[in-house]
Amino acid sequence: MRESFREELKRLAGDGVRFEEPLANHTSLGVGGPALAMVYPESPEQLGAILAFLNGADIPCLPVGNGTNLLVRDGGYRGVVICMKRMAGIRIYPVRGNEALLRAEAGASLAEVVSRSAAAGLAGLEFCAGIPGSVGGAVTMNAGAYGREIKDVLSGLIMMDRTGKSSAWPCDRLQFHYRRFEPPIADGLITTAVFRLAPGDPEAINGRIKEIKDLRRRKHPLEHRSAGSVFKNPAGQPAGRIIEETGLKGMWSGGAQVSEKHGNFIVNRGEATAKDILTLIETIQERVERERHIRLEMEVVVVGEDS
Ligand SMILES: Cc1cc2nc3c(=O)[nH]c(=O)nc-3n(C[C@H](O)[C@H](O)[C@H](O)COP(=O)(O)OP(=O)(O)OC[C@H]3O[C@@H](n4cnc5c(N)ncnc54)[C@H](O)[C@@H]3O)c2cc1C
Repeated sequence: MRESFREELKRLAGDGVRFEEPLANHTSLGVGGPALAMVYPESPEQLGAILAFLNGADIPCLPVGNGTNLLVRDGGYRGVVICMKRMAGIRIYPVRGNEALLRAEAGASLAEVVSRSAAAGLAGLEFCAGIPGSVGGAVTMNAGAYGREIKDVLSGLIMMDRTGKSSAWPCDRLQFHYRRFEPPIADGLITTAVFRLAPGDPEAINGRIKEIKDLRRRKHPLEHRSAGSVFKNPAGQPAGRIIEETGLKGMWSGGAQVSEKHGNFIVNRGEATAKDILTLIETIQERVERERHIRLEMEVVVVGEDS
């Protein structure tokens, strides 16, 4: 990497930059080679300056939140990873009529947003209980569970383009699909999300959160590293059940295994590589296509290069 590039990134990101950072340390699957650099912007101004520099130097960049839906290949990512974790402010506005707005920066954890809204007696985000992502990742993935999705509670977004310019987007101008968001600006980064919540009974809200977390503990292999559901559910049936019926539960490749507890989870049993996980993914897709004539689509986002 050119020295001038390193120096400029250090100048812009201060102590929030690491070079050749292994991404296995930043993904819930615990696999993946290094990024050219990883930066941790602390404000929209700093983020804007970093983006403008990278854009001008034609260096690719990848925003990440908690890395809980990411599979990074073993050769790593030859660009700059922008970790949003230091932009994590949350603010709750007073109730007006029948709603209250909660504004969260992209790096705020969903867990924190869920517990802050519950503590304020606001309902709407309970379905996110136990989803281990950040706000930016949850919006990008249109994260969902138990019949609800992020788009159902979103009021609007602030996004930044690759030149560092911010713009506000009300929800009715945004397009969401099943586990997918179409950014209105090419390669736009989410910097802030505003959620529309409703006043509710704190006991009922906390009860629902507890119920959902208990259900997740029973159904999901939370004792092992994973990225949650690997595949989207094809119309009408859960991918996990199809994988189970195809007899693939429990199958190994190197240090990766199709979870014995939930067919749609691939778990890292200790020493897995991205290649091990990708081998299982391919095997599942081929077998399901051959036996059930269904092409399972990926929910997990795969980035980077093979080693
Ligand atoms: C045990 C477990 C259970 C899970 N259960 C669920 C579930 O029930 N429902 C569900 O939907 N998901 C679930 N997930 C998957 C994951 O937690 C969600 O998709 C989550 O919303 C991802 O957030 P993240 O911050 O980790 O995103 P990351 O993995 O960091 O990123 C995911 C994608 O979003 C992009 N991105 C991240 N931040 C930004 C930003 N600020 N601006 C633009 N793009 C951005 C990344 O580039 C990447 O493409 C689960 C995962 C695990 C490990």
